[in-house]
Amino acid sequence: MSRFFTISCLLFPFCFCAVDLVAQQTPAIASTLSASPSPTPTVFSAQTLFELKQLQQKALTSDYAYRQVAHLANNIGPRLSGSAQAAKAVEYVAAELKALGCNVQLEKVMVPHWVRGEETAALIQFPGQAPNTTQKIVLCALGGSVATPKNGLEAEVVVARNFDELKSLPRDKVAGKIVLFNYPFDKQMAAEGRGGQAYGEAVVYRSHGPSEAARRGAIACLIRSVGSADYRLPHTGLTDYAADAARIPAGAVTAEDADLIADLVRQGPVKMKLVLTPQTLPDVESANVIADIKGSEHPEQIVIVSGHLDSWDLGTGAIDDGAGVAVSMEAANLIQKLHLKPKRTIRVIAWMNEENGEAGSKQYAKDHEKEFSNHFAAMETDGGAGHPIGVNIKANPEVKKMFAPVAAILQESGAGILDLVEHCGADIEPLEKAGVPAFSPIQDNRFYFNYHHTAADTLDKIVPKELAENSAVVAIVVYALANMEQPLPR
Ligand SMILES: [Zn+2]
Repeated sequence: MSRFFTISCLLFPFCFCAVDLVAQQTPAIASTLSASPSPTPTVFSAQTLFELKQLQQKALTSDYAYRQVAHLANNIGPRLSGSAQAAKAVEYVAAELKALGCNVQLEKVMVPHWVRGEETAALIQFPGQAPNTTQKIVLCALGGSVATPKNGLEAEVVVARNFDELKSLPRDKVAGKIVLFNYPFDKQMAAEGRGGQAYGEAVVYRSHGPSEAARRGAIACLIRSVGSADYRLPHTGLTDYAADAARIPAGAVTAEDADLIADLVRQGPVKMKLVLTPQTLPDVESANVIADIKGSEHPEQIVIVSGHLDSWDLGTGAIDDGAGVAVSMEAANLIQKLHLKPKRTIRVIAWMNEENGEAGSKQYAKDHEKEFSNHFAAMETDGGAGHPIGVNIKANPEVKKMFAPVAAILQESGAGILDLVEHCGADIEPLEKAGVPAFSPIQDNRFYFNYHHTAADTLDKIVPKELAENSAVVAIVVYALANMEQPLPR
């Protein structure tokens, strides 16, 4: 509160501070001035601030978002791009948004169609092995991976903790082998609420590990799963084959299996049989769902509220990112139910193919680049459904000051922190790069990476109350943006 008060005084010399001074001298003038409806009338009108509180109250008691994510996760299921479920999800979300009275368009996007196959592995030779036994290894293919021969491949396993360690090995120690990158996810960092940072450090092995291994002659590459829980769950995710390296089969073993392999390799030669049979089928036509609530004063100016509709195939895509789509739909639902009239156009987007190519985001940038100067702001929710404590802002630092009255309202549900950040969301990145102010909720991600990209990304991981808190934050931020009395500095 005090921060807000100081800022408003700096920006608006005739607000409460000045009034207090005047009140001691000339009570008549003071009473006129103190009737001023808002301490920051030039950024948000009293009416807008009132409506933001209405949105908050309604959001915190609404189960609309939860019903949406429940339908996406349970009735439709995993929604990997190109799948029948992804197509069904496009149809479903479009119909729901149309039922809310939005103007809905499906904007065509060609997406990759990768399908998982058989995925098994076993250690077939290792120190201390009992006769005629193997050790089962739990793993999954990485998204986009090529296949092993149908009956698998057999090779010795080489373990490297990181890229430097791999590069320090003579080429003949790697050529013809299976490389395992055993880089641990920093669980302590995640426990302290910096899950995104821990993820960023470890995920480079998923993205670039297979090509690094292939450059040194490896015939397959495994990574230690990028995630924080130890329930022997493999975490999938896209691998990014480099153009200059051979494409070798790529998978993620569980953290436990990575430890097991590393322990045995320290003792002597370890040989693995690996079977991965995914397929890359021809690209499929899909769509971003675009749903507008037309602005009453500046219909050409657009405020995006979004999440991604596709998900990985192992779980049912509840926290990644059914939740983000659901809270974005909820913003539209609440605005319509309360009969609010946004001054700028609010555009709900359910992005397609964030997980394995970002084709939806790229296509939107291609189709709308010329209108980016009219994109007032963009919001994306793609960090699960944990309790939000505030809002990330990638914009001119002045925007944070302008948002102080909104933060005071957000604080009612414990979400009053405004953080200036470098990045708010993968799908809105082209907009960020074009200078469009970007926003995302700051969510509790201490447990997010326990389930992220695993079979355990399911509806039960969402606490309805916390999802509603996210809806409140998202609805407040986008409606505040749509109704600001001033343009945002860029
Ligand atoms: Zn996601």
